[in-house]
Amino acid sequence: MTWNEIATDVFSRRYPQDDLTMTVVRGTHGLLLIDTGGSPAHAALVDAEVKQLGDVRWVVNTHAHYDHTFGNQHFAATGVPIYGHHLLPAHLHEHERPRLAAWRAGTGSEPPRDWHDVIITPPTRLLSERSWLDLGDRSVELIPLDRGHTDGDLVIRVPAGDGSTGAWIVGDVIEEPGPPMYGSGCFPMRWPRTLAALLDEIGEDDIIVPGHGRAVSRAYGVAQLAVLESTATLTLEHYRAGHSVDRALAFQDAWPYPVAALELAVQNGYQELDEDDDLDVPQVS
Ligand SMILES: [Zn+2]
Repeated sequence: MTWNEIATDVFSRRYPQDDLTMTVVRGTHGLLLIDTGGSPAHAALVDAEVKQLGDVRWVVNTHAHYDHTFGNQHFAATGVPIYGHHLLPAHLHEHERPRLAAWRAGTGSEPPRDWHDVIITPPTRLLSERSWLDLGDRSVELIPLDRGHTDGDLVIRVPAGDGSTGAWIVGDVIEEPGPPMYGSGCFPMRWPRTLAALLDEIGEDDIIVPGHGRAVSRAYGVAQLAVLESTATLTLEHYRAGHSVDRALAFQDAWPYPVAALELAVQNGYQELDEDDDLDVPQVS
């Protein structure tokens, strides 16, 4: 297994731990690494294995979930700047910190790992607006998104140049190989419009690299948007009918995939609607 060049100077590699797909973008000044893995040991492994391509000079987090940020301390210790959405530290505090505490205490269902090594480390450069990062001979755009998979999602756009393909590194805003992952701090009612706006910018020939699994095309993203929309539409219908979360999920056949994975979708969707019941769901185009 080695690094796979999916677009000019954009390399990705799948790791069995958390089925992560790690991605780096190479410029003449060094490597930009996207996400740091689910533990400091994993970050150290990736750092060592990417040396064949160069030195990591910048790191970006696509969002706060543990499997994307728990390696941050490895890079923070070397003084490498870590970029992230300005709301990412709050998500770490609210969701990942208690999750880590529960795993350390041996409660909850965790991947087997030595959690005692982890020091939760927020990004050192927080972004609330799009900005360009100069890698030497090329620049990439860091784009903080509106609420979706979490409230701190950020995608990286690598523009196409000289006949090369554009690439988008999107974290878990698009999920591969499975359906969308409604995890802690997700916004199921707003996720469709956030993804729709992102897909508007992605070209037909661009390549999309999700945080897990294989690289995909824009068409895959459009299909995933339809799943997000149908989940949000059904959630809205049940909410308006006054059904409890359990009652809504009891209509098992109506949901686009097994309801075991949708509990948080409906629960968090109801919460969004409680706070703003003018939320509507954009229709599949
Ligand atoms: Zn995630």
